[in-house]
Amino acid sequence: MIMKLQTILDFIRTLYNTDEFIGLHEPYFDQTELDVVHDCIKSTFVSSTGQYVTEFENLLAKRTGAKRGVAVVNGTEALYLALHLAGVTPGDIVITQSATFVGTGNAILRLGAIPIFVDIGRDTPGMNPEALSSFLKDNTAVQHGRLIHTPSGRRIAAVTPMHTFGIPCRIIEIRSICDEFGLPLVEDAAESLGSYYKGRHTGLFGLIGILSFNGNKIITTGGGGMLLTDDNAIADRAKHLSTTAKKPHPYEFDHDEPGFNMRMPNINAALGVAQLSKFDRLLDAQRSLAAKYRDFFSDSPWRFIDEGANSQSNFWLNAILMRDRAERDEFLQLSNAQNVMTRALWKPLHSLPMFASSFHQPLPVTEELYDRLVNIPSSVGRLIKS
Ligand SMILES: *Cc1c(COP(=O)(O)O)cnc(C)c1O
Repeated sequence: MIMKLQTILDFIRTLYNTDEFIGLHEPYFDQTELDVVHDCIKSTFVSSTGQYVTEFENLLAKRTGAKRGVAVVNGTEALYLALHLAGVTPGDIVITQSATFVGTGNAILRLGAIPIFVDIGRDTPGMNPEALSSFLKDNTAVQHGRLIHTPSGRRIAAVTPMHTFGIPCRIIEIRSICDEFGLPLVEDAAESLGSYYKGRHTGLFGLIGILSFNGNKIITTGGGGMLLTDDNAIADRAKHLSTTAKKPHPYEFDHDEPGFNMRMPNINAALGVAQLSKFDRLLDAQRSLAAKYRDFFSDSPWRFIDEGANSQSNFWLNAILMRDRAERDEFLQLSNAQNVMTRALWKPLHSLPMFASSFHQPLPVTEELYDRLVNIPSSVGRLIKS
């Protein structure tokens, strides 16, 4: 049977049962959000203090199984702070993947550090443990107790894998490699709230993990992010640094080191608390939408990007592989012209000008996925309502 690209669009229109614009990932709000945010406004505590921030942190720690959560203004800042707390300093190297949102790379650059990119997997679109391991074996040496990238002489300070589209990468193997080389693991779990590897929530495998609550993520606080950690000392320092390093005092403004103004405002946390109350429903809906796509594409020339072994994805953003770049371009063109929003994979970071001088390994899978991958509509609000 010959399937035309239009068949995919017809299927998406049936799923969403609408002739109107279909977005890639729209947030879902109902009366709960209006009530909780209304409450927050009435209390006047919309800004830097208030009960919702602590409530949101505690609820998320409980939901993910982390000992502690520290809420900040967005995911990029969360990653910046996490890498800083992991000991990354100017001139250091942080190993990450090229197939990621630019925020991952920007957080590294802002520390004055340099990213090195390793490839993603064919099994899951996150960091490939074999690529990480062979890079480290071929390019590093221990000098004076520090792991040095031999071609540049720079210290390697951290490894930051990303669970692309919510699909967990093989994080336990990555963790073992990090342990073997004595490297801190800082997970970019911005897209993977509700995703598990071998029953453990993503973001909890290393020293620190970060989440994002941007408007397009699985739940949103408008803008927001969070550090997750089992290390109390790190959580306390994250809180302290993100709140201008202010010493607790009833009336003195006393600060004991250079701090940041990164805390999540109470009104954003209020929205987050409301969103969390429907999180299980959203997660179920994301997984059943993915099951419908999996089913549809199983009998087609295009491949649905599925979760790997031992893992449970939140299926935040569904993705398919077209047969080649030309077909990808044709489908992106056709779908967007018909008001069905689709997107290519992020342009790989190693091909962006600000990362041009970064080292990278051969990245065949990254480049192939950039040529062939398309993200397809993954909002679930409309599906829950109907
Ligand atoms: C969304 C996202 C972030 C953080 O984004 P913010 O908009 O700053 O919250 C970081 N990394 C990845 C992979 C993301 O998808």
